[in-house]
Amino acid sequence: MSLPQASDLDVAGKRVLVRCDLNVPMEDGPGGSKTVTDDGRIRASVPLLRDLADRGARVIVMAHLGRPKGAPDPALSLRPVVHRLHELIGLERYSVHGAEDVTGPDAKELVERTGPGDIGVLENIRFDPRETSKDDAERGAFADELAALADLYVDDAFGAVHRKHASVYDVAQRLPHAAGPLVASEVAVLERLTESPARPYAVVLGGSKVSDKLKVIEALLPKVDTLLVGGGMCFTFLAAQGYDVGSSLLEADQLDTCRAFLETGKVVLPVDVVAADRFAADAAHDVVDATAIPSDRMGLDIGPRSVELFARALEGAQTVFWNGPMGVFEMEPYAAGTRGVAEAVAALSSGGGGALTVVGGGDSAAAVRALGIDEERFTHISTGGGASLEYLEGKVLPGLAVLEAG
Ligand code: ADP
Ligand code: MG
Repeated sequence: MSLPQASDLDVAGKRVLVRCDLNVPMEDGPGGSKTVTDDGRIRASVPLLRDLADRGARVIVMAHLGRPKGAPDPALSLRPVVHRLHELIGLERYSVHGAEDVTGPDAKELVERTGPGDIGVLENIRFDPRETSKDDAERGAFADELAALADLYVDDAFGAVHRKHASVYDVAQRLPHAAGPLVASEVAVLERLTESPARPYAVVLGGSKVSDKLKVIEALLPKVDTLLVGGGMCFTFLAAQGYDVGSSLLEADQLDTCRAFLETGKVVLPVDVVAADRFAADAAHDVVDATAIPSDRMGLDIGPRSVELFARALEGAQTVFWNGPMGVFEMEPYAAGTRGVAEAVAALSSGGGGALTVVGGGDSAAAVRALGIDEERFTHISTGGGASLEYLEGKVLPGLAVLEAG
């Protein structure tokens, strides 16, 4: 995929509209205020914004926060995010201001005030219901207003490229455009997973449901050498082999699909699981054979022998994609499986290992952070959960297709 790059745009003195992913978790602060609890996405957006400002662009940022119901909602204002962005980018060196509306009088005034080297941020783009409208004409009218604010468009929000939204899709049709570095690097890595990957190629899947990951399994299974399955979805596979899985997660309507996947001979399943008597951190729990789960127990993690088995199956892999925790890692008694597999994957690319290791999925990335594993040990941790999975499924992502088109 050859995407035009932001670094090739001549931006000096131009108004550059940048779509960023600034959708960060927030909590209530003092006096009804809100504070950012994890500024990872804001940090990731800084390099492009700083580069554009340094090259004399008049930078106008658009981003969404949460899911406002198509109307302004003070609780989802980008104001605290603008404040944090200003701190991260440099309070003294750069001027960063937020608008009180999206394309209204205040936004227009902000754009006028934003000079070369300055950064202006529009209010939460989803305060306008036309942003996410299914009606092309409605989105188009909104995109006209956005495009009128700028000369050029840059998309650096990989997490939104699978959405046909005005700020992602329609506006790119109306302005000369390019991909920002986050979008470009994400696409480059995903291409390495889909186009002639280095072998052996292993995929590790977990998480809660088979049905969520069905299309990814279908798309990747023909390309991989090994598919390791843990997490809640492994129980539907075990049941497909005829084993009783107790009260573990089970998707009865996926049994035939799982049987077909098993017939490829590429699927490796856990041999033991941590079985608990309730879905709770303080539940009674034991390690049992995966083929002998007591009928009143639910599997909430893969067991230690499975971690060893998975680690052995990964040995020598040159390409690894991991999506979905191996267990309910949010509760400490069921975190060891995810920790062990994360370590095994990370070891392939760190400390002299030369494999390509990619972590995808919001909860998987959160697990890496929560379990205290150094993120640098993986080649890449994908920022856009849904978007990366859709890319791997082979879908056309509207936000990328529109950038690729001249
Ligand atoms: P990602 O966001 O990385 O794609 P998913 O959303 O598919 O991952 O799944 C994450 C969730 O799966 C976690 O909240 C985790 O608690 C849950 N999970 C993992 N293993 C199990 C299990 N054995 N039973 C129930 N839930 C599980
Ligand atoms: Mg998830």
